[in-house]
Amino acid sequence: MSYAVYQTVELLWLLIAAVAFVWLMLKAPAPYGRHVRPGFGPQINNRLGWVLMEAPVMLFLWLFYRIANYTMPPGGFVALFMALFMLHYLHRSFVFPLLMRTGNKKMPVAIAVSALGFNLMNGFGLGYYFGKFAVYEPDWLYDWRFIGGLLLFFAGMAVNITSDYRLINLRKPGETGYKIPSGGLFNYICCPNLLGELVEWAGFALMTWCLPALVFWLWSLANLVPRARAHHQWYRNQFTHYPPGRKILLPGLW
Ligand code: NDP
Repeated sequence: MSYAVYQTVELLWLLIAAVAFVWLMLKAPAPYGRHVRPGFGPQINNRLGWVLMEAPVMLFLWLFYRIANYTMPPGGFVALFMALFMLHYLHRSFVFPLLMRTGNKKMPVAIAVSALGFNLMNGFGLGYYFGKFAVYEPDWLYDWRFIGGLLLFFAGMAVNITSDYRLINLRKPGETGYKIPSGGLFNYICCPNLLGELVEWAGFALMTWCLPALVFWLWSLANLVPRARAHHQWYRNQFTHYPPGRKILLPGLW
């Protein structure tokens, strides 16, 4: 596939993100977690859904890398970027779902399938790019985009993981209800876990400096900005004593 064709596929995929963003902002949040509701077809166990929808992205990344480049195993910066991507998804697929206190909650199969499609496109975009088009010279190591991106990636990951576990630990084993989170960034914003995820993938886009990582970050924005706003609204509706000054995603701003 030429770069022109590849680029067109990525830009069309980005167009779908714009539609998804408008839909999620104007219509309703994606129906999983606290926003799960009837009317979305058959459901599967929540924990299993997370494993099944997230784990294949590591296979997709590898597969599309090999389709694009079946002679050379990844090396240098490409190997590092693929390893960082896998690191995130190893945690997301096999640690986060096992630790979540989700009882017998379910998610619609449609959500798991759409997340799988999202992961297929991300695996394709990044894997194919890294296999066929990526060129990083040795002096990329000293470039501000590489260093700044790497720092942002790990800072975002730390905020994402620690905030996710702060939320998960609000429940005692066996509980499935919701409480008002507090402490750390929760004192300022509703969804530090989602902010952390966005910072992490912004860092990834910066350090890899490539179209598919930018598209992945914009897709994450399209998913998580409406979700954070919906969470914020939901807390306000559920808890009369929800801290009035708490913002949605950006401390002091929004
Ligand atoms: P949430 O913040 O909705 O939930 C995270 C976990 O904490 C869930 O197990 C949830 O339980 C529990 N929880 C949340 N709030 C409370 C509370 N107030 N009291 C008790 N328990 C609580 O995150 P998401 O489920 O939306 O996302 C999970 C992870 O996946 C995040 O790190 C997110 O960044 C990432 N993600 C990334 C996307 C991307 O596009 N890159 C898209 C979607 C998610 P329950 O499930 O029962 O609500």
